[in-house]
Amino acid sequence: MANCLYCQEKAGWFKAVCPQCQAMLNAIQTLGSGFSFRDLLDALMATNAPNEKIEKFLETDIKGQGSIRDLITARMTNELARTVGQPTDTDAHKVKKIREDEKKRPKIPLKPGQPDPMRK
Ligand SMILES: [Zn+2]
Repeated sequence: MANCLYCQEKAGWFKAVCPQCQAMLNAIQTLGSGFSFRDLLDALMATNAPNEKIEKFLETDIKGQGSIRDLITARMTNELARTVGQPTDTDAHKVKKIREDEKKRPKIPLKPGQPDPMRK
């Protein structure tokens, strides 16, 4: 039995992803582009996956290039940056790096969704 790439639970014979995580992947694909984090969570919750599993799914970094959460953060950062006229080319890998760097420095508490003034 192989374990699921996302949640590490048993995935089944010759499967890399368990049925619930597969359902979440399918749900993301139906969202197309331009969805919000809220839309994403709604779509994932509609698959009836438990919250804990959704968390794991979002945090999994399969290729070492950033998790699904990082991908979405990168996309939203780029959209926000374009809106304010300062285009950036953030990608999931950079978000991952920022996230890891952040662990190493003292934190100023931020409201959810508030851009960090320390970042460029
Ligand atoms: Zn899974």
